[in-house]
Amino acid sequence: RVVVVGSANADVVVDVDHRPADGETVLGSDAVVSPGGKGANQAVAAGRLGGHVAFVGCVGDDAHGRMLRTSISEAGVDVSALRTVQAPTGTAIILITPDGENSIVVAPGANRLVDETMIDQVTWAAGDVLVVQLEIPLPTVEHAVRRARRADVRVVVNAAPAALLPAPVLEAADPLVVNESEAALLVSGSTAPSTQVPVPGPASDTVRRLLELGPRSVVLTLGAQGAVLGRRDPAGAVVLTHVEAREVTAIDTTGAGDAFVGALALGLAEDAPLDGAVVRATDVAACAVGRRGAQDSYPTSDELSAMTRS
Ligand code: ADP
Repeated sequence: RVVVVGSANADVVVDVDHRPADGETVLGSDAVVSPGGKGANQAVAAGRLGGHVAFVGCVGDDAHGRMLRTSISEAGVDVSALRTVQAPTGTAIILITPDGENSIVVAPGANRLVDETMIDQVTWAAGDVLVVQLEIPLPTVEHAVRRARRADVRVVVNAAPAALLPAPVLEAADPLVVNESEAALLVSGSTAPSTQVPVPGPASDTVRRLLELGPRSVVLTLGAQGAVLGRRDPAGAVVLTHVEAREVTAIDTTGAGDAFVGALALGLAEDAPLDGAVVRATDVAACAVGRRGAQDSYPTSDELSAMTRS
């Protein structure tokens, strides 16, 4: 089983000609609202693939909360630990410019209420895999990691949005999954906004530096360049593997990283070796890139096998 502890957001997407400058108002396209949030996306990605998945999170008692509950449960995910709370459902305001770049503001709302008591209600089973990201309070993430490790449960840490992490969370990660900007922040050790962190050197150097932070393994995602995974062999030497991305015409990369993490965690829960799980994760993420939306773009296992045969 995969247990995802994390955020659920309504994604409000507006296409704009350019990002508003200070004091400026910009007219955009009609808003498109769809289910998102890193935690919910990861759970839905694993659920659509037919996995045994549970989601621990919070939504508000509002239309967005109902949209998310429907989307997550229709993916076959156990929503018995999805709580409806007295706060607005988390919202991500996503502006997309014609070059395909996005700027995002997240209003956490109900996600702020994902707390330690919810973690204490999880019954851990041998073979579970816990997945955490950073759109919920950090103390909750730390508590979930502690509880999972105490039950000998494998932990996948997706350090997104970019932030520094306390040592116990880093050291439990197997793997730590980050994209390039999240990696840059972690290896710089700086708390400056991620836009001010210098671009790191070659991916292999970055993975080595990430391993020095203490995780049991690392997966660095590189967009269209795929992913590099790193771990230590029994003698302590670093072993690096590059997995190519599947070639696809990019339509909408929103939620690609989340599809990757959800599929990776499911592979690990099904006892796949890390490199095998990464290969399937890149296939699933490619599918997500080739279609519009976040959760709406994630493949079922049948769609995935149809794609990987072609
Ligand atoms: P994030 O979405 O978190 O920024 P990345 O951009 O690294 O993360 O993408 C995550 C994964 O999605 C990549 O490792 C890759 O497998 C897949 N992916 C992303 N962009 C593309 C693309 N243009 N073509 C094929 N695969 C892609």
